[in-house]
Amino acid sequence: MTEAWRPDGEDERRGASGPVKVRVPAKVNLHLGVGPLRRDGYHELNTVYHAISIYDELTARRGDTLALTMEGEGTGELALDDTNLVIRAAHALAGYAGVLPHARLHLRKQIPLAGGLAGGSADAAAALVACDALWGTGLSRDELAGIAADLGSDVPFLIYGGTALGTGRGEAVSPVLVRPTSWHWVVAIADGGLSTPAAYRELDRLRDAGTAGAPLGSTDALLGALRQRDPRVLARTLGNDLQDAALAMRPALADTLKAGEGAGALAGIVSGSGPTCVFLAADAADAERIAGELTTAGVCREARVARGPVAGARVG
Ligand code: ATP
Repeated sequence: MTEAWRPDGEDERRGASGPVKVRVPAKVNLHLGVGPLRRDGYHELNTVYHAISIYDELTARRGDTLALTMEGEGTGELALDDTNLVIRAAHALAGYAGVLPHARLHLRKQIPLAGGLAGGSADAAAALVACDALWGTGLSRDELAGIAADLGSDVPFLIYGGTALGTGRGEAVSPVLVRPTSWHWVVAIADGGLSTPAAYRELDRLRDAGTAGAPLGSTDALLGALRQRDPRVLARTLGNDLQDAALAMRPALADTLKAGEGAGALAGIVSGSGPTCVFLAADAADAERIAGELTTAGVCREARVARGPVAGARVG
């Protein structure tokens, strides 16, 4: 906990006087292993997070109250009040650091809402990093990740970015250290979202009925593949235990996956709880071609190319 900051005397000049702009990526899970349901209502996860180059952008300016405006994906659908993860994150940081939660925040959203790309968690991470710089609270990334864990399971990862192992309910993050490689992805965004809690409930139902696929288990094969830097090897190890649930809730996603693989993707999986599907391409040119084919096939609202891993929430 840092010393309380009061807006008087010298300390008044702490922090940024001009706007602070933070860019934060979306995440995909290269491996999403869902274990048993815990007593606290969360599932035990064994996951490999990967940050990709689809970004939300949060600008923070000084203000006399805490206010949020937005443009882009989800505008008009997403509440901008205290339920928004950006506002919750600003309050959480202010409470931790002992400062007034005053800022004018503007969110430019490109990550689709309820898409399985952790857009809300990304925005919460961006708000922590932006307000920390605006208010001059000077917390370390590990301290910000500690606050982030209370806001949502995926939020700590989006403070760090890169590729990382997630355990617990996903909030315990440790980086995966591999030689730098850029992987090429195609991200097929669907119309409308899927509820994450509903996807977990559907997986529990399928497991109770004995109709869910075998659980993925260990991340060893995937971690080994990441070290080899060959997309064909990585393709064989991608997996998502929530995929069956997402397909049961949105059967049309099977057509999207089939179209991506038919267009030459090395592998396709549902991202997180869906409905976004992500495809691994052999290289940048292939990714562009596959995105074009998916768009023409009409199996998604939009197909974007992305690369990963990229850094987490950063000023600039
Ligand atoms: P995850 O992959 O972490 O499960 P998701 O990508 O499926 O998440 P999000 O876009 O993070 O879904 O949104 C999930 C819900 O979080 C939304 O439906 C909305 O009610 C709530 N939410 C609160 N603040 C935000 C925000 N800033 N952006 C998006 N959603 C938000």
